[in-house]
Parts: sequence; structure tokens; C-alpha cells
Amino acid sequence: MPAALILMPVTVARSLDHALAALEECPEAIILAGGTDVMVQVNRGSMPVDQVVAIGRIPELQGWSREGDWLHLGAGVTYSEMMGEEISSMVPALAQASRTVGSPQIRNAGTIGGNLGTSSPAGDTLPTLFALEAVLTIRSSTGVRKLPINQFIVGVKQNALQPGELIEKISVPVLEGPQEFCKIGPRNAMVISVASFTLLTDVKESQVRSCLGTVGPVPIRPTEAENLLSNGVNWEKNKVSSEVLEAFASLCADAAQPIDDHRGSAAYRRHAIKILSRRAACRIFSEDNS
Ligand SMILES: Cc1cc2nc3c(=O)[nH]c(=O)nc-3n(C[C@H](O)[C@H](O)[C@H](O)COP(=O)(O)OP(=O)(O)OC[C@H]3O[C@@H](n4cnc5c(N)ncnc54)[C@H](O)[C@@H]3O)c2cc1C
Repeated sequence: MPAALILMPVTVARSLDHALAALEECPEAIILAGGTDVMVQVNRGSMPVDQVVAIGRIPELQGWSREGDWLHLGAGVTYSEMMGEEISSMVPALAQASRTVGSPQIRNAGTIGGNLGTSSPAGDTLPTLFALEAVLTIRSSTGVRKLPINQFIVGVKQNALQPGELIEKISVPVLEGPQEFCKIGPRNAMVISVASFTLLTDVKESQVRSCLGTVGPVPIRPTEAENLLSNGVNWEKNKVSSEVLEAFASLCADAAQPIDDHRGSAAYRRHAIKILSRRAACRIFSEDNS
């Protein structure tokens, strides 16, 4: 049987003002960035597309800038761009997460704004953005507001975006110190994660920040584990004892709120977090058995 023809009335916005005017006229319009999530749903017939506003050609949403210790990423920055040398050097964990996403084609088209817009618990940029306490700039034709990421993502595929609004940029602090992102899926390439974990260091403050992905309705900061590791590391020698590593991994696993689904059981996911968190910490700090 021939595939059904899908007609999508699309406004191809050429500027931010153009997109905001189109969204003011039709606040329920679907925002289309790289389309790597939207088009899957459209092709499946699960997303009504009465009106679409395409934002992929808006110059104001492209690129990034650095202001002191803050990095501002346009919502249209792609995974391939995040893997580039400059963003990798400022937020290595975001680059590592980007490397694990889909295929080169998906990484060329898919954007950070789209990952946030989808708000899937398995979104690979989300744990690092939560750990960094990213701040989103959200704009509509009537104004602009800033929202911390933990107030933006409010549930499974649910966020605080109101009709007529779009994400303009994402701001994160540039921390000094190594970072790690790890993910487990049924295979190495082209998989949605079954569990993911990010660990960031802030050597100036002698602190770690971390976050669990895909093991709860929203990414989870294991704050007890973070405090234990921050206090347990010998920051001068970059060393940590096996006991502290073990306790850190156990507390991370305890913080998970996983579910059983077709990708993995809750028990497997909790176990995976224990492995990933210990692995990430061992990549950053030397294990001190003396
Ligand atoms: C084969 C395949 C493999 C994939 N692998 C992974 C993976 O490994 N890890 C992963 O995390 N994801 C993966 N994805 C999902 C997808 O690529 C990402 O979520 C991507 O970041 C979506 O970005 P996009 O620009 O394509 O968004 P789109 O599909 O254009 O949009 C996604 C959602 O965000 C909204 N949106 C987009 N931009 C904005 C904005 N600026 N403001 C407000 N709302 C906006 C849209 O309205 C829509 O609701 C995969 C997808 C495919 C098809």
C-alpha cells in the first residue's frame, strides 16, 4: 500500500522575531528544529501537524558565546557542534554525551534545544545540564524569562514551555576540572540509553557534581553521594579511597528511581548506575589503596 501523504503547513522562520510572530499567530504550532524527534512522530502519525514553525535557519539560535565563566549555547547548536574542539574544552561531558547520540546524520541535525524540547528521561544532554544547573532563556513575542533546568523539565516528556514560547539559549557555568559522561544501552551505537551518568569536578571549589539519567521521570542529582565524594577526595593528590568509591557508587544506585520497561528492568538499571558511577569516578580520580 502506498504511504499516506502528510501535508504539513510550514513557516520557515528567517529570524527570531519571525518565529515568535508565527508562534503568536498560532501558539499551538509545532516547533521544528532538526526534526529528529518530531519527524519520527509525524511519520508514525502520533503528532498532529496542523501548523509547523521551522526554526533551523534562524541565525540567532545558532552558535555559542562565552561571557566570563558562563557558556551560552544557542538552542540550535547541534551534537556535532558540541563535539567540536571549543565546546569540548569548556564542557567535556556535553561533548562526550553528544558523541553517544544516534549516528553522524542524527548528530548533524539534532539540537540541544530539541533534546530539551522532547524532555525524555533518556535525553543524553540532560544529566550534564542538570549537574551544571543550566539556565534556559525562553522567549515569546511578549517577553523573555529565565528558568533553571530543574524547573523546566517537570516530568516524563513534560516541560514548562508555554504555547507561543521557544527556547532561545542554554547557559552553563564553565567549571575547572575533568568531567565524565557514561551511558549503557543494548549496544554501542544508535541506542537510547538504559542508564546514564555524568560526573563533573569543580577543582576550585573542591566539589563534584553528578546526575543520573534514564532512571527516573526526570534526571536525578544524587546529592548525598556528591557530598560524600567531595569530602572524601584528596583534592591535592587527586586520589580517593576504595571505600569512598564504593560508598559513592552505592549512594548513587540508592538515589535511582528506575522502572521496568522493554529496554531493561529496574534492578538492572540500578545495578548499571552503580557500575557507571564507580567507573566515572575511577576515570577522574586515582584509586588509593594505601
Ligand atoms: C535514530 C535516532 C537516534 C537517536 N539517538 C538519540 C540518542 O542516542 N540520545 C538522545 O538523547 N536522543 C536521541 N535521539 C533523539 C533526538 O535526536 C534528540 O532528542 C535531538 O536532540 C532532538 O533534536 P531536534 O533538533 O532534532 O529536535 P526536533 O525533533 O526538531 O524537536 C524535538 C522537540 O523539541 C521541540 N523543540 C525543538 N527546538 C525547540 C526550541 N528551540 N524551543 C522549544 N522547543 C523546541 C520540538 O517542538 C519538539 O517537541 C535519536 C533520534 C533518532 C531518530
